[in-house]
Amino acid sequence: MTALRFRALELADTHCHLHEYDERDVLRIGRLGLKVLAVSDDYESSLRTLVLSRRHLWVVPAVGLHPWSVDSESIRLVDKIIDLALEHGVKAIGEVGLDKKFAPHTIDLQRIVFIKFVEYARAAGAVLTIHAVNTWREVLEILERYDVNSAVLHWYTGPAELLSRIRSMGMFIGVNPSIKIQEKHRRVVEKAPLEILLPESDGPYKYRGLMLDPSMIKDVIEWIAKLKGLSIEEATDVIRDNIRRFFRSL
Ligand SMILES: [Zn+2]
Repeated sequence: MTALRFRALELADTHCHLHEYDERDVLRIGRLGLKVLAVSDDYESSLRTLVLSRRHLWVVPAVGLHPWSVDSESIRLVDKIIDLALEHGVKAIGEVGLDKKFAPHTIDLQRIVFIKFVEYARAAGAVLTIHAVNTWREVLEILERYDVNSAVLHWYTGPAELLSRIRSMGMFIGVNPSIKIQEKHRRVVEKAPLEILLPESDGPYKYRGLMLDPSMIKDVIEWIAKLKGLSIEEATDVIRDNIRRFFRSL
């Protein structure tokens, strides 16, 4: 698919760490014709993301504190990041969440941070882009408790039996270019309802030798088409509609 066609199709990368790219790459990504939901990891990257969103119309900014960045020092940053969101009218929060696998030692602090962001999202009508690893049920319970359902579980690797619950909550899951190289990600897409799938890159991140990048959104859609037995046009139509519903409040 050409960049021109992407522009006409209003597709998006729903999870990208755009703040990590240099200027030249940001311009290159801009030429893909995608809308990019640019997530942040901490206070500094939230500031950088906001600068990028002022410079480029295709950037939708999300501010947040990544669960891997949460420690006893950083916890004081949550209120500063939420103040930034309020000051700039930010309608997307991320990357936030709970990770018991790679950062189990800070899980109690992560819960405090995550709930503060969930409360902001509810009050501001913002969408959440969530990192959940070995915490899928707990994350869904928190969202239910706070009555928040404008959310995506990015790069979903959780159990298949939660997929229908995610759909009934009106939420989405992110499908990552890792689908190109890993069978377990293909199994998730096979089992997931089509209407909850959102394409994402999580770029720039090197995963098992694959440098994840927004230019791979077309590959993600091609894989979704293949696994769901659809033409690329049919899959693109559904994904475009999913993106429209996800971005509704933005
Ligand atoms: Zn990420």
